[in-house]
Amino acid sequence: MSFSRRPDGELHVEDIACSELASRYGTPLYVYSRDAIENAWRAFDSALSGRPHLVCYALKANSNLAVLNLLGRLGSGFDIVSVGELARVKAAGCDLSKVVFSGVGKSPDEMATALSEGIKCFNVESVAELDALAEVASAHGAVAPVSVRINPDVDAGTHPYISTGLKENKFGIDTVSAVGAYRKIADNAHLEVTGMDCHIGSQLTDIAPYRDALKRLLKLCDSLHEQGIKIKHLDLGGGQGIRYKDEQPIDLNSWAQAMDEVLGDRDVEIIVEPGRSIVGNAGLLLTTVRYLKHSDDKNFAIVDAAMNDLIRPALYSAWQDIVPVKEASASKKLNYDIVGPVCESADFLGKDRQLAIEQDELLAVMSSGAYCFVMSSNYNSRPRAAEVIVDGGDSHIVRKRETIEELFAGESLLP
Ligand SMILES: *Cc1c(COP(=O)(O)O)cnc(C)c1O
Repeated sequence: MSFSRRPDGELHVEDIACSELASRYGTPLYVYSRDAIENAWRAFDSALSGRPHLVCYALKANSNLAVLNLLGRLGSGFDIVSVGELARVKAAGCDLSKVVFSGVGKSPDEMATALSEGIKCFNVESVAELDALAEVASAHGAVAPVSVRINPDVDAGTHPYISTGLKENKFGIDTVSAVGAYRKIADNAHLEVTGMDCHIGSQLTDIAPYRDALKRLLKLCDSLHEQGIKIKHLDLGGGQGIRYKDEQPIDLNSWAQAMDEVLGDRDVEIIVEPGRSIVGNAGLLLTTVRYLKHSDDKNFAIVDAAMNDLIRPALYSAWQDIVPVKEASASKKLNYDIVGPVCESADFLGKDRQLAIEQDELLAVMSSGAYCFVMSSNYNSRPRAAEVIVDGGDSHIVRKRETIEELFAGESLLP
């Protein structure tokens, strides 16, 4: 078990007690389990083993170099959304020919860099972007490999902020306009049709929207094929949900089987771009209770982590479990809001939690591996937290805690 409560009542990450990690590295502290990360990646790889496939980890979920390096060693590809992320994949020593480049607003400079690094594919999201890419490729005397991101107009049934496959979303090209886009690629000597992609949303717990999206993509693929335009890979995006509370995550083998049935005997490589489901439940955030505050209507636990460290509750009303590191003593549980020191009423990590807690004790915010550290900021001039990976009985600091000096190192006074 990557995260477990041992007989002594203490929460462990693999073989290390959370209190040991906190005293060694301080809090707030992000802790990830190597085992959990690798197992999650392998689950995708093995679910897709019946076909040519590539698992491209979407690193916007957690882009720590050590995480990328571990996945790269397993043979992972990567889904990037900026050249900053491309530089991370490179710095982590991973294979750039397995990189797909997503995002609606790639700049010509970003395109040029990615082109010269020899990435696998540009996932293009508009005709205007296609024109810009053709220009960049022509200026470099190169041929850009292109996949068109299709907006299949399916409802992923998830939070509106993380739903991306509906007509009204900014992502992708509709199936009708896509035909023209593919013609344009086929007719341009500096562009090459390689694939077709979609990504319909995040934290999906239902297979049906994937099935609907794939059917729409295949219809388009088949008609392009009749026109002599061959799609070599189909990229189904990411979005597989995880269990934060009581969600029933998608069973990957059933999901892969459903995709397989729709694909039939088509000869095409399958790419997936999972982010959250690789790292989400592979991490937790350790935080120390600074003060308890009780009023007539409310009990507050003021902790040393805040919305600048973990913004999901404030941004998406996300719910993440918050548990005491040491099993709660018999003392009476109270209803707490777990809040940080930042000067915003939105600065909470959890509300209405039944907990028996004391000042100075450690709490763990669970399911903090995805979209947590990467969204952290320096708001209120708070240095960003450190990150640690636990590997069995060893722990490795993979990002040191920011210092106060680093907060304003790039700033200067007027002469
Ligand atoms: C964010 C994103 C992903 C990963 O989504 P998850 O929900 O984290 O799996 C994959 N592909 C694209 C294009 C994305 O924008």
